[in-house]
Amino acid sequence: MSDSAEVLVIGGGSTGTGIARDLAMRGLDVTLVEKGNLTHGTTGRMHGLLHSGGRYAVSDQASATECIEENRVLRDIAAHCVEMTGGLFVQRPEDDDEYFQEKLEGCRECGIPAEVLSGEEAREMEPYLAKDVKRAIRVPDGAIDPFRLCVANAASAEEHGARIETHAEVIDVLVEDGEVVGLEVKHDSGPGKREHHTPGETEKLYADYVVNASGAWAGQIGDMAGVDVAVRPSKGVMTIMNTRQVDTVVNRCRPKGDADIIVPHETAAILGTTDEEVEDPDEYPEEQWEVDMMIDTLSELVPILQEARTIRSFWGVRPLYEPPGTGTTDPTDITRDFFLLDHEDRDDLPGMTSIVGGKFTTYRMMAEKISDHVCEKFGITAECRTADEPLPGSDDFSILRDYMDEFGLRSPIGRRSVQRLGSRADEVLKTGEPNPVICECEAVTRAEFADAVEGSGSDLNAARIRTRASMGNCQGGFCAHRMANELAPKYEAEVVRTALDELYQERWKGQRHALWGDQLSQAMLNYALHATTMNRDRDPARTGASVDFSAFDGGPTEPGEAGADASAAATDGGSLREDESRQEGR
Ligand SMILES: Cc1cc2nc3c(=O)[nH]c(=O)nc-3n(C[C@H](O)[C@H](O)[C@H](O)COP(=O)(O)OP(=O)(O)OC[C@H]3O[C@@H](n4cnc5c(N)ncnc54)[C@H](O)[C@@H]3O)c2cc1C
Repeated sequence: MSDSAEVLVIGGGSTGTGIARDLAMRGLDVTLVEKGNLTHGTTGRMHGLLHSGGRYAVSDQASATECIEENRVLRDIAAHCVEMTGGLFVQRPEDDDEYFQEKLEGCRECGIPAEVLSGEEAREMEPYLAKDVKRAIRVPDGAIDPFRLCVANAASAEEHGARIETHAEVIDVLVEDGEVVGLEVKHDSGPGKREHHTPGETEKLYADYVVNASGAWAGQIGDMAGVDVAVRPSKGVMTIMNTRQVDTVVNRCRPKGDADIIVPHETAAILGTTDEEVEDPDEYPEEQWEVDMMIDTLSELVPILQEARTIRSFWGVRPLYEPPGTGTTDPTDITRDFFLLDHEDRDDLPGMTSIVGGKFTTYRMMAEKISDHVCEKFGITAECRTADEPLPGSDDFSILRDYMDEFGLRSPIGRRSVQRLGSRADEVLKTGEPNPVICECEAVTRAEFADAVEGSGSDLNAARIRTRASMGNCQGGFCAHRMANELAPKYEAEVVRTALDELYQERWKGQRHALWGDQLSQAMLNYALHATTMNRDRDPARTGASVDFSAFDGGPTEPGEAGADASAAATDGGSLREDESRQEGR
């Protein structure tokens, strides 16, 4: 048997990047292909909860036990991605006492530290909890940054020799003589780092083994190989609030249901979620009532949410899987466990295994299991080291505290940069150049942003997920153009504009579901800044149509006067008169 193997991993989410890292650390030659950016799928659209296991302590104790084990591992190896906020399972007067007791006992049976707090003690921890909250169970839930974690896994895989190809979509699985021998991928630009306006190409990649870690899309890859992988995608909505209304993960202590978790995440709080089976992981309705339900229901726990500003909403799709024949109709009943489908054993198709189901919190354990499986195929005996070896940035976490002292980092900007970069702070921030702030909301400086651009080519969305720039309160209003500016002069103006447009679209996507109250004002301000002052709305002055300047110049009008008709009011540069010819030089 050979002591090395070339392995192709499909999917740049937590599972795929975790597998790529593990296999590369064991000495295998790995290429990972991802159709979008890293975290493009479910991993970039989750709640950010590092489970203690408390959530599953009654319904699924095996998962609960795995969660607490991995919770401890991730605190060690990914310290710069985790914030140990702690968590509360909160009981309202109408919630069942018996269930509260079952939860407490379940936690203890699974080895999850759990302590009961009175309503008063819980409110001392979280002052915005509803006044009538009866009591709570305290558990070690945390918040985790999925973007930073995946990038760190991919970076570590690269350090161990792996090739990571983003914007490389698998369009075919190559099968020869009844065996999977590789993949055909379509590069958006490249191969290599993404650069807009660089033509893409298709490439055939051959390998000894293929791992299908494409999550909710695993069925599509299965179809390409001619095997059935019956994933049951289930969507969930999350709504981001403008500040951290809570500093602890707040869960409702009742059997699993919709809208029962609030996760404090960086500068915001994320409300979630729902669980509804969908046909297609790309095409499903995103509805306003789902957002309303998040706010209304979770306000029963934290009433101030009713008054808070919602900055955006997003949906993710769980890659749930159930072995054939189980026949569960309710998606909330489908196990959160993961399954390894060896297509040689299952379908008589050697050369490929799919991994489906699971949770973000247990991604490393899933990666270990599948890497063991691949190594066994090739008779490779190298041990898994991912539970012990820190991810890049978490190598020596005491460095963070040292930096805080050394630089007197009370400033939120310095503090947050160092928190994000962890042990890479020195390498990235010690620059002789001026280091202005690019994104105020998330406290991202030029040095940190330049480091991200280094890793992501002209792709501003990829730089965004590495730094969080444009993910805060203004949603890119005050920083998107500065981010774009950082691409110059390395990239041509047209490349920079396209990258900026793409970033705008991504930011806009989530705000569409939050257009009321203060967020509507913020969105209109962003529109005014970008669309009108930078002409991103293709103002008539550029397109050749004419502008009714009198709509601006007529001064305030009284109801009933000419020009007071709201439907004729200029909102974005004046109303257009198609019959007027444009007056050049005006
Ligand atoms: C609403 C919601 C909330 C959640 N909250 C939590 C939580 O708080 N904590 C927790 O532990 N778990 C949570 N989860 C579960 C967790 O997010 C997922 O289990 C996990 O992110 C799945 O990761 P993955 O890598 O398997 O899949 P993905 O992240 O989806 O990765 C698969 C990748 O494959 C790529 N791909 C697909 N087709 C192709 C192709 N043809 N070619 C190339 N690439 C392809 C996709 O673009 C995608 O990036 C949540 C899930 C949802 C839906």
